[in-house]
Amino acid sequence: MNYRHAFHAGNFADVFKHALLARLLVYLTRKDAPFRVIDTHAGEGAYDLAAEEAERTLEWRGGVGRLADMSEASDQTRALLAPYLDCVGPFGEDGRPFVYPGSPAIAARLMRAQDRAIFCELRPDAHEALRYRFGRDERIKTIHIDGYTGLGAYVPPKERRGLVLIDPPFERTDEFEAMFSAFRSAYRKWPTGIYALWHPSKDPYAERNFNDAFGKNDIKRALRLSLAVAKGGEGLRRTGLVVINPPFVFEEEARDILAFLAPRLAQGEGADFEIEWLTGE
Ligand code: SAM
Repeated sequence: MNYRHAFHAGNFADVFKHALLARLLVYLTRKDAPFRVIDTHAGEGAYDLAAEEAERTLEWRGGVGRLADMSEASDQTRALLAPYLDCVGPFGEDGRPFVYPGSPAIAARLMRAQDRAIFCELRPDAHEALRYRFGRDERIKTIHIDGYTGLGAYVPPKERRGLVLIDPPFERTDEFEAMFSAFRSAYRKWPTGIYALWHPSKDPYAERNFNDAFGKNDIKRALRLSLAVAKGGEGLRRTGLVVINPPFVFEEEARDILAFLAPRLAQGEGADFEIEWLTGE
């Protein structure tokens, strides 16, 4: 377990994932009934972008740093991104947010008093940071556990509505298969939950098998979204999210957000986005 998210916090893949995550959470708050968030690979919770790790890569500059000035966005895009940008908080003069919120900080901020969350993290130091940050929040449990084991143990939640985020580090070569298998077992126990499965796009063959698996396994409503910041080139250039049981407004909202983010986060020719139904609609 070498992966540490602190090196990548606030990069284009985080902006993509977290802006969409915030829309899913906002949707859940539209009914009074409580919901549950399960974050299987939670990370540290939030990240200091002035820390050595972020300073070394400066990945945030190609991501959240490009959202410091939203004056050219339409009113609608600004409104759709507002919940995410509220979680990010103020930007410094160099376009750097003081602290970058990870998925747990975004969930914690958008949840209400009646909602609950379980944040799983296997790396001891990352879990310790998570516990330190959220240990006094009575709505939240942080658990030092393998995220796939945790998912199997905590679904279905008693609230019967909510969201699972599966955001693994992709250090293992079979991560796509492991993620799908854990998702499929959870889906069988809780077919009405919203699930968001994040992945990097580096291995087209593994990604195609992953996308095909939803249809082959009778998963009813799976929406695939992806964002490319350039065509080809070194390092991560494309990333994706498959959302199962997305709220009905989500596709349209995501289209607006990604049409804004693709040119704004571009790192070269070919920046673009895709949205397609893998199954259902
Ligand atoms: N979801 C976080 C966010 O959006 O802010 C980022 C998560 S980061 C991509 C992946 C995290 O998974 C790392 O913190 C890593 O330590 C953790 N991790 C690695 N293997 C794990 C496992 N088997 N179970 C749970 N967490 C794991």
